[in-house]
Amino acid sequence: MAHSGSASGADRFKALYNLLSALSRARVLEDLYDAALSSLMEVTAADRAAILLFDEDGVIRFKASRGLSERYRAAVEGHSPWPRGASDAPALVVPDVLAHADLAPFHDALREEGIRVAVFVPLALDAGVFGKFMLYYDTPHPFTEDELEVATAIAAHVAMATERKRAELERARSEQRLRTILDNSATVIFLKDLEGRYQLINRRHEELFHIPEQQMVGRTDFDIFPAVVAEQFRANDLAVIEAGQALAMEETVPQDDGIHSYISVKFPLQGPDGRATGVCGIATDITERKQLEDASRHLAAIVESSDDAIIGKNLRGIITSWNRGAERVFGYTAEEVVGGPVSILAAPDRIDEMPRILAEIAQGRRVDHIETRRRRKDGQIIDVSLTVSPVRDGAGRIVGASKIARDISERKHSEQERALLLAREHEARRTAEQLHAVAPRLAAQLDMRKLVQEVTDIATALVGAEFGAFFHNLRNEKGESYMLYTLSGVPMEAFAHFPMPRNTEVFAPTFRGEGVVRLDDVRLDPRYGRNAPHHGIPEGHLPVRSYLAVPVISRTGEVLGGLFFGHSTPGRFTASHEAIVTGIAAQAAISMDNAHLFEQAQRAQAELKRSNEELRRANQDLEVFAYSASHDLQEPLRTIALSAQIIERNYGKQLDEKDAVFLANILTASRRMGVLIQDLLAYARAAKSEEGPAPRVDSAAVVSRVLESMTASIEEAGAIVTADDLPAVAMHEGRLTQLFQNLISNAIKYRDKEAPRVHIAARSGDGCWIFSVTDNGIGIEPQYAEQIFGLFKRLHGREEYPGSGIGLAICQRVVEQYGGRIWLEESVPGRGSTFCFSVPCDSVR
Ligand code: ADP
Repeated sequence: MAHSGSASGADRFKALYNLLSALSRARVLEDLYDAALSSLMEVTAADRAAILLFDEDGVIRFKASRGLSERYRAAVEGHSPWPRGASDAPALVVPDVLAHADLAPFHDALREEGIRVAVFVPLALDAGVFGKFMLYYDTPHPFTEDELEVATAIAAHVAMATERKRAELERARSEQRLRTILDNSATVIFLKDLEGRYQLINRRHEELFHIPEQQMVGRTDFDIFPAVVAEQFRANDLAVIEAGQALAMEETVPQDDGIHSYISVKFPLQGPDGRATGVCGIATDITERKQLEDASRHLAAIVESSDDAIIGKNLRGIITSWNRGAERVFGYTAEEVVGGPVSILAAPDRIDEMPRILAEIAQGRRVDHIETRRRRKDGQIIDVSLTVSPVRDGAGRIVGASKIARDISERKHSEQERALLLAREHEARRTAEQLHAVAPRLAAQLDMRKLVQEVTDIATALVGAEFGAFFHNLRNEKGESYMLYTLSGVPMEAFAHFPMPRNTEVFAPTFRGEGVVRLDDVRLDPRYGRNAPHHGIPEGHLPVRSYLAVPVISRTGEVLGGLFFGHSTPGRFTASHEAIVTGIAAQAAISMDNAHLFEQAQRAQAELKRSNEELRRANQDLEVFAYSASHDLQEPLRTIALSAQIIERNYGKQLDEKDAVFLANILTASRRMGVLIQDLLAYARAAKSEEGPAPRVDSAAVVSRVLESMTASIEEAGAIVTADDLPAVAMHEGRLTQLFQNLISNAIKYRDKEAPRVHIAARSGDGCWIFSVTDNGIGIEPQYAEQIFGLFKRLHGREEYPGSGIGLAICQRVVEQYGGRIWLEESVPGRGSTFCFSVPCDSVR
């Protein structure tokens, strides 16, 4: 049985054992082929061997060979005695390859390679032939049944091992592929068993939750997520197992950057028996999409709740969206207008505006905040502010426009109102400024006649009247009121023929002080034209249409007059003119009051001056009279006295007793009268002012001269007269002498029982020198302190103390001429008196 060169049975067994162990150790197919060829050559003593397998394309190719040339392999590759997949393919032994007709195409190659015998051993499994073993002998070789059997057995093992290995590699490859897919997937993929223990996670899962797969396997969601999250997952997993089919569910999970939302497609994993073994999940992060959704929902809500009209339209001007604001602003509901042309909103005067805007939009330009007008459903035209922006599709093409329209009618209205208010404010300010400019001029004008003219002129100019008149009441000295008028804009003659404004319904309110009358057209006023004889404006009167009349009322409420303005065209006088004239009228009233007071004051002053003058003249007359009378009276008095003395001397002894008394009376009376006349003359002289400025005079010297002249009476009375240091004063010497003469002689004359003591002193005070003459005489009752200075005023009978009551009156007149005064400073009856007089220090006449 054993053939020379062939292995024995034991060797064969050993070879097979080696082959099996090699096969089981083989890590790659090449190892496997190598082991197979070694075993084959060992047990069959073949010179060469090869293993060829069908590739996917159905062509059989060398996978391993021993001892074959490249050239040969290339020549025979692709040849197989059996088609791929053939079942029950027999091994084929070709004892002489060159004699075998089927191999004819390869004879050259075989010859060249030096091959004589070839054995084809199929490699087959259930699916049929998938390859072959080739054994080659260079010399004729009786290939035995035994050898064939062993070769076939080896082929069967190798076929099985090859297939197993290939399947194993295939599985590993597909697993690798799957893994690659899993790990490169942007979605999170995982497998869990029925208890929720992870069995597999992909790389995305690892990345997101920072746990590598090895650590993750065997752990559950409760190990890695907060309980509330894990519970959610678990409940969903169980629902999937319960349902027995794939379910899509939304799940949320915390990640590094916050909570993420996932759409998880979960399906049950099934074992071979169809029972669930776990859950597979494929979770896609939809956070961004959700955010976008939220954002767009938010946006939609904003659009919907906006007060502005937000309208979508395509480039053909067809409305595509219409929010509630649009309903409110334009009055149409979305159902009414969506799908219809936006041109229904066009205001009649702006029909061509919309196509222009669409043209801009088509160019990709935005139309920003234009203010225009649109028409509402109810036909009302409203002011709107428009912003129109292009809308682009995903590819950036402009497909339409979104338009935001804001109803600005109200704003426009308030803008207009504001403009009006501003204008009014401006007017008011102008009025105030004008009045401000006018007021000082009027206030400064105290001449009533000029004042009323100025008021009329200013007011007429400021209101732009063609003419103005100021009818004003005046009062004459007797307090009787009468009316005058001034005119502006026309000569006085224009009014000369017309009577004063009559008490008509148009004029009267002004003179009654009832307020302003402003008429755009006086002829249209119901009060106009009712009075005879003219029934309106008299013939020849200036034409008046615009009429403005403002009363001028004094502080005391007395209507001082009325300002009247006229213009021959209607509607000339405005509210601001009214304000101006009202202001001027108020100012005029004040100024007129002032002018009036000024006039009164002027008049009072003039009156005072006049009566002073009268008084002065009367005084002068009196002085002249007193002087001339006393002077003229002296002459006849002297004649009487002389005649009486002659009668006494010549006939004194012949007269009887009665006649002698009469004669004595004549003599006494004429003597007294002489004294009286002297005194009167002195008084009259005292009233006459001295000529020229008062010289400075030494009062001490004056006093001593006076005392010298009085030596006789001083000695006779046994009087002692003393004096302090006396100052020099500005006074005419004669006057000062008069003063001291009167005061010192009174001090001696009105002595009591004791010898008289007289003291003269001077003190300065209050800008003047005050001289005092003090005596120890009879004194004066206080109630007579003033009276004693009156002309002819005496407190005693002539028998008691001689005198005419003129001395103190003269003193008073003298000091008053020098701006001083005289008074009884102190007097106690029975104890004495002190008389004082003052002379201003800088006294000049
Ligand atoms: P006559 O001395 O001529 O009467 P006077 O004008 O000098 O007039 O004085 C007025 C009156 O004042 C006197 O009559 C007298 O009663 C009173 N009288 C003036 N001086 C004194 C004095 N020194 N003491 C008291 N009585 C005086």
